[in-house]
Amino acid sequence: MTPLAEKLAARIRAAGPITVADYMAACLGDPEHGYYMRREPFGRDGDFITAPEVSQMFGELIGIWSLLAWEAMGRPAPFVLAELGPGRGTLMGDLLRAARLRPAFAAAARVHLVETSPRLRDIQAATLAAAGITPVWHGAIEDIPPGPMIAVANEFFDALPIRQFVRTAEGWAERMVALDDAGALAFGLRPAPPPPGRSTADPVGTIAETSPVSTAIMERLAGRLAVEGGAALVIDYGYGDKGSADTLQAVRRHNYDDPLAFPGEADLTAHVDFGTLADAARLAGAHPRPLLSQGAFLGRLGLPERASSLVRGKDDATREGLERAVARLSSPQGMGELFKVLAVSQGGLALAPFDGDDPQKT
Ligand code: SAH
Repeated sequence: MTPLAEKLAARIRAAGPITVADYMAACLGDPEHGYYMRREPFGRDGDFITAPEVSQMFGELIGIWSLLAWEAMGRPAPFVLAELGPGRGTLMGDLLRAARLRPAFAAAARVHLVETSPRLRDIQAATLAAAGITPVWHGAIEDIPPGPMIAVANEFFDALPIRQFVRTAEGWAERMVALDDAGALAFGLRPAPPPPGRSTADPVGTIAETSPVSTAIMERLAGRLAVEGGAALVIDYGYGDKGSADTLQAVRRHNYDDPLAFPGEADLTAHVDFGTLADAARLAGAHPRPLLSQGAFLGRLGLPERASSLVRGKDDATREGLERAVARLSSPQGMGELFKVLAVSQGGLALAPFDGDDPQKT
């Protein structure tokens, strides 16, 4: 048993089974043993590689997107440039380097990072100091000072806790983390009312996931964009329509694991329910755009052109590395289809590359 498994078993013995959301929150955020609090998750030696760590081109194209959004907003100065869950700070560094195309953008940007892990804050500080940027950190989005905002969240929402519900022969039940006869962590079920949008008419075996924390964060983000102006990008793996699968997954050293096997030592995520996030954004008064696949999004922002310009004058190994990065980021076999991009903005904004013409052609 991991130290966190011992701690959770003691908690369950004392107070009864916990929800999957409580389990996930403890695995990722326990101050002593939580995954993001003490481990080095990213990169080849870590457990997984995210898009900004695959290639600088990812953050650079998000920089181009940010510039276009800022211009569509009427070039507010100053404005808040925010990132939720910045990891190593790589995306923000690449974004701002690309955005130097317009010095007025960099001069007007006030960088605010929402990050709960003190360890990762230190790494973000080091990455961004090397790029001459001094960000301000917050524990939650509502602490970011007011004003027009451009915000990015890459692989942030997948780390937020989900609850899971199953339609059994007796009715709906919530999936819980309990203890088996040997005292090990095991899944169980507790009768529950149907989750939102579901009913007892759903067939036996239907699975539903909800993420009240994700919905609340989107409501705050979108409410703020509607009132103060701005635009946000949410990039993650997930689904647009009503899901019906168990998407809780544990990844350790680049392999999938049993989610209960290594609490605190494996990354634990769930697919993002983009349909519910878009509904929450709309209800909060903002304008969500139809989802784009990551492949389409990066293609429209000029990924192939960016790769060609980086290749020029370089050796074969560099060219092959860039080709692999383009394929990984944008092909259906890589992250191109599974990952989706949801854009949300204040009303009345023409947001490239979601609205109107392909920005590369105008
Ligand atoms: N965006 C980065 C990192 C993704 S990992 C990348 O693409 O590489 C998820 C990030 O979200 C980590 O930085 C983690 O510490 C942070 N995080 C997770 N839950 C959080 C929460 N509830 N509030 C703020 N940050 C959180």
